[in-house]
Amino acid sequence: MKTIGLIGGMSWESTIEYYRVINETVKECLGGLHSAKCVLYSVDFEEIEHCQAMGEWEKSGEILAGAARSLCQAGADFFLICTNTMHKVYRQVQAAVPIPLLHIAEVTADSLAEQNVTKVALLGTRYTMEHDFYKQRLQDRGLTVLIPGQKDRKLVNRVIYDELCLGVIREESRREYLRIITQLAEQGAQGVILGCTEIGLLVKEADSPLPVFDTTLLHARRAALEAMKEDLKGEIK
Ligand code: GLU
Repeated sequence: MKTIGLIGGMSWESTIEYYRVINETVKECLGGLHSAKCVLYSVDFEEIEHCQAMGEWEKSGEILAGAARSLCQAGADFFLICTNTMHKVYRQVQAAVPIPLLHIAEVTADSLAEQNVTKVALLGTRYTMEHDFYKQRLQDRGLTVLIPGQKDRKLVNRVIYDELCLGVIREESRREYLRIITQLAEQGAQGVILGCTEIGLLVKEADSPLPVFDTTLLHARRAALEAMKEDLKGEIK
């Protein structure tokens, strides 16, 4: 089994989910007492969020590149950045190490393609919804990406940083998210990307008017399957 490297802590609320899903996937596939070989480098999210707010992306990229070097030294065979937003500095982080970095948007696009979704709603931080680094990857894969209007983007972003990243789950926020997803469905979205690794803590597939593409689940599960590729040869697609 390969060793998975995780750059986590952004926020730790969702990093816990990564650890859980990776191990559950290994258990499901290999059975017995099998668990994932992984190394976690968990950053101080306050420092990263400060860089985001100041527009200091290169500085945040350097912090994550340092984490990537540590993971590499610790024996990781490949690694993940456990947040959508920080894929803004994907290239900088990947350039720091010789081991591959599994891109969260590419994994998500694979899942959308499998489900024949071509028009998709995207919820995430304001950086993920408004900047190009994420949407462009999806558009390059032939997808049409719908995002909420300005007022709702502000709400989605506020709930992420002021509630979900602090472990606060509010019913009122869930209702607002579902209202926004319903509106995007009315505009023709065939599915919704939970493009922030904490949104799955608030919105569940069962509540959503659209099929949900939870980036945390997709990314973590793919990482586990990738790690077990040799063990599962012939058993998985
Ligand atoms: N975890 C979130 C994401 O997936 C937001 C935290 C961050 O800004 O990295 O984008």
